[in-house]
Amino acid sequence: GEPVCECNTCYTGEDCSLLTPDCPADANSGDPLFLEPYWRRNAARSAVLVAGWHRMSYRSYGDSPISLELERYIRLLHDAVGNAVTDGRFIVFGIGSSQLLNAAVHSLSPDAVNVNSSSSPASVVATVPFYGLYKSQTEFFDSREYEWEGAAANWVNSSASSSSKFVEFVTSPNNPDGLLMKSALDGSSVIHDHAYYWPHYTAIPTPADEEVMTFTASKVSGHAGSRFGWALVKNKSVYQKMLQYLSMNTLSMSVDTQLRMLKIFKVILAELRNEGDIFKFGYKILNRRWTELNNIMSPSRRFSLQKLSPQYCSYFQKIRDPSPAYAWVKCEREEDADCEAVLKEAGIISRAGTAFDAESRYTRLSLIKTNDDFDQLLLKIEALVSKELLSSI
Ligand code: PMP
Repeated sequence: GEPVCECNTCYTGEDCSLLTPDCPADANSGDPLFLEPYWRRNAARSAVLVAGWHRMSYRSYGDSPISLELERYIRLLHDAVGNAVTDGRFIVFGIGSSQLLNAAVHSLSPDAVNVNSSSSPASVVATVPFYGLYKSQTEFFDSREYEWEGAAANWVNSSASSSSKFVEFVTSPNNPDGLLMKSALDGSSVIHDHAYYWPHYTAIPTPADEEVMTFTASKVSGHAGSRFGWALVKNKSVYQKMLQYLSMNTLSMSVDTQLRMLKIFKVILAELRNEGDIFKFGYKILNRRWTELNNIMSPSRRFSLQKLSPQYCSYFQKIRDPSPAYAWVKCEREEDADCEAVLKEAGIISRAGTAFDAESRYTRLSLIKTNDDFDQLLLKIEALVSKELLSSI
């Protein structure tokens, strides 16, 4: 009969337990639904109820009590996890960290008035493979103040690197390959995107202590749809330029989102280092997924995964095995130059290497979606690898 409620893609039947034959495994997006079961376990205590008359005012940001309280909890969270220094930092809220990335590019670039008279626009760069939004966003907003100049490696040791102003995106750990990264250009202004610098995804060797750092609820709690990100900013004039950008862009940020995030952060903090620790929960899932995927793919000579090593984590206070958000797959055979197409043929939807400015011989698999998504992915990978192994006997 008709399902009682909506089933996840690939499942049908009354209780959604029947796998649809030939349904593809969709491992494209970075939707962080692996954390949904955590919030199901904590459903009542993480709920918010907001009466219709409550907090209607525009005055919902800056010095408002709710923002100050949220800021306090963000500092407490960083201090407790030990992933970022918050002392002497201003905090800017954004509608996702996506909004803050362009706010930061704008704020680190020369003012448009100066660009007209004396200085040239800033060159915005990143190290390949990089998260595709940096490029598409910088090109889309197409300002007089900055220009997208592509791979940072092209500018190392070039004469231009000493004469012009560089704004560099450094993603650590990196999306897509999960490696901890450092700036490639001496003297560049760096936006450190620490979306994944949390113990579910990576070892935390030391607290990040940089000039401009961005974080997002999307990856720490998994509330991607709430659209909440924040930046820790050292320099006051950069901070003020970011605030002005946000005020021009959206006036201020949703107070409903702030209320919800406050509740979520309170639950995370209350459970830290207890049985209900969200980082232990997230780490366990992602480490298991990474291990299972490696076990299945390691006999393959056709496909390989990025190499990640165990590393000391100051949060877990031990050496821990990897648990990346994504698998960065390389197709090793000459004829498999389009790796995304090779996987697609096998019923696996991935994100092509070209979306990260890398070769099409690479493609990315998301490991942070639901259990059903991941199970489906493993089935398809397993079938693909056994086909290869059988044909090589
Ligand atoms: N930075 C990186 C490296 C990301 O992977 C993402 C989302 N996948 C973002 C920023 C943007 O996230 P959001 O706008 O949801 O904060």
